[in-house]
Amino acid sequence: MARIVMKFGGTSVADLNRIHNVARHVKREVDAGHEVAVVVSAMSGKTNELVGWVENMPKVAGSNAPFYDAREYDAVVASGEQVTSGLLAIALQSMGINARSWQGWQLPIRTDNAHGAARILDIDGTDITRRMGEGQVAVVAGFQGLGPDNRLATLGRGGSDTSAVAIAAAVKADRCDIYTDVAGVYTTDPRIEPKARRLKKIAFEEMLEMASLGAKVLQVRSVELAMVHKVRTFVRSSFEDPDAPGMGDLMNPPGTLICDEDEIVEQEVVTGIAYAKDEAQISLRRLADRPGVSAAIFGPLAEAHINVDMIVQNISEDGSKTDMTFTVPSGDVDKALRVLGDNKEKIGYDVIQSESGLVKVSVIGIGMRSHAGVAASAFRALADKGINIKAITTSEIKISILIDGPYAELAVRTLHSTYGLDKS
Ligand code: ASP
Ligand code: MG
Repeated sequence: MARIVMKFGGTSVADLNRIHNVARHVKREVDAGHEVAVVVSAMSGKTNELVGWVENMPKVAGSNAPFYDAREYDAVVASGEQVTSGLLAIALQSMGINARSWQGWQLPIRTDNAHGAARILDIDGTDITRRMGEGQVAVVAGFQGLGPDNRLATLGRGGSDTSAVAIAAAVKADRCDIYTDVAGVYTTDPRIEPKARRLKKIAFEEMLEMASLGAKVLQVRSVELAMVHKVRTFVRSSFEDPDAPGMGDLMNPPGTLICDEDEIVEQEVVTGIAYAKDEAQISLRRLADRPGVSAAIFGPLAEAHINVDMIVQNISEDGSKTDMTFTVPSGDVDKALRVLGDNKEKIGYDVIQSESGLVKVSVIGIGMRSHAGVAASAFRALADKGINIKAITTSEIKISILIDGPYAELAVRTLHSTYGLDKS
């Protein structure tokens, strides 16, 4: 007997038939004698609709209210998960399974005060653990918790992954299964490269890079939590027949296991290729080369909540002037240019240049730590295809390359085959 947390994303609970199908997945594990907690997302499209309602509330003429109240945003947006938790509990009950729904505030799942993007601080798992022991399935609404102000708080888009992993850690689950509409984590996006392969296993650190660099399978925060609490997390499909052979396998269910790197015996040098679209590059030319310049640039950008990614500074030729280039999401360029313009005196640059519509392609693998020449082969392969590289950053386990948008797919496919990731 094991304790399992099962999380179902929006497409898996998109309508009543799919919720019924999800209930069959849960029944399979219950019938096998496991203790089960389920975490659900809102029905697909629901959260977008709720967010749209909040954002499109007509304003009183002449009102200059800058923003809606984030606490009320949370009150509205958290409702999507409340609906699915109740519906799934009903579906389970109709199959003769003892189940009940839980809202975040009922456990409670305690969060910080950052409404709209709250972080989980603590989960009281006592009640659900006891009831799971008595054979009751806990159906928990994902994405939501209770803030220190005693009000509903949501965890940021995609946050029910994080709910699931956090609950798995809190109830000391043997496994956390993230059910989605794809069969696992792939070496790259199969829509771009049909030769992409499903990975049997991927290390937490690699998954963290994949998720941060554009692979949209899991919320980044959920991977961080899984890594810290060593939660064995499976990414698997809810669209397979719940009763197909092997689906209930405790050690080796179909899907991708995200786990400690020690568990991965045959470590490849490169595990996957990720890409992030809609990057923009900003360059400040002829900056003064003196202490405090970077702080003068990135301090105000951080205050404006602009997420700066790759940063490249050149070593000055004469010790007096230098250039600084960095990337931000395309949607933030105008804001960034405004902030930098406002601070021109303080920063002290000559001209500012920017370009949108770029793509960051990244090669990821913990095997890189012990192999030389991994970056060089990427550069060679891209050069052979005539793809120009605009900026490069590296870490121990990844190489990120900034290129022009139209070359994204070619670059992904080229790198995928360069590192032998194509399925045969
Ligand atoms: N329903 C929320 C969203 O769409 C949370 C989630 O699905 O993980 O962002
Ligand atoms: Mg999701």
